Amino acid sequence: MPSFGSVSEERRHRKQRLAAGFRLFSRFGFDEGVAGHITARDPELTDHFWVNPLGMHFSQIRVRDLLLVNDRGEVVEGNWPVNTAAFVIHSAVHAARPDVVSAAHSHSTYGRAFSALGRALDPITQDACAFHGDHALFDDYTGVVLDVEEGKRIAHALGEHKAAILRNHGLLTVGHSVDEAVWWFITMERTCQVQLLAEAAGPTTKIDPEMAALTATQVGNHVAGWYSFQPLFDRIVAEQPDLLEE
Ligand SMILES: [Zn+2]
Repeated sequence: MPSFGSVSEERRHRKQRLAAGFRLFSRFGFDEGVAGHITARDPELTDHFWVNPLGMHFSQIRVRDLLLVNDRGEVVEGNWPVNTAAFVIHSAVHAARPDVVSAAHSHSTYGRAFSALGRALDPITQDACAFHGDHALFDDYTGVVLDVEEGKRIAHALGEHKAAILRNHGLLTVGHSVDEAVWWFITMERTCQVQLLAEAAGPTTKIDPEMAALTATQVGNHVAGWYSFQPLFDRIVAEQPDLLEE
């Protein structure tokens, strides 16, 4: 994992990862109109975060387009508006979890479908074990998240976990790096898809709790999450180098 000689170097790194995260979200079809946001905490102004401009397609976001938002929801760098729901959810998560560098949320199809079931994921595959004992269900829905109190309730439900299923809404993931938060989102979305497919075909066999817990430590740790993102970053930068424009 990288280390940095200065905050400006670390900031640039986080912004590059963030822009790449949006391109990957687009590539995987995690867009629905203007819904969805990924944030990266600023390494210096730690109550500020970088986020996508409201209304700019994920596939067109470059490093230079990212907005810096303060703890009051004001855009202090950039010329586009910020999504109110992005501020409300992510500011609460970043405030409640000092360990979290990045949080990701979008209205991806399978995460949304699974969220309608109002239940947690089962450890039915090796990959699903990344979420075993490490995701929460926000078992409520009260409309579009525009109230800071609702953001706090989501952050409270997330607790110390890496992810939450927001009932009737979609998925939320967090990480100690942008790399990790984006990877958990991608693999959680696919985990929802796999469980929906498997349950549609018939009864599933769950990995026993002891093995699921062991596997969680293997595939669900911070380094594994960071590492899994690296080939995706390399691929998207090779395909769409303009994402790095500053
Ligand atoms: Zn949403």
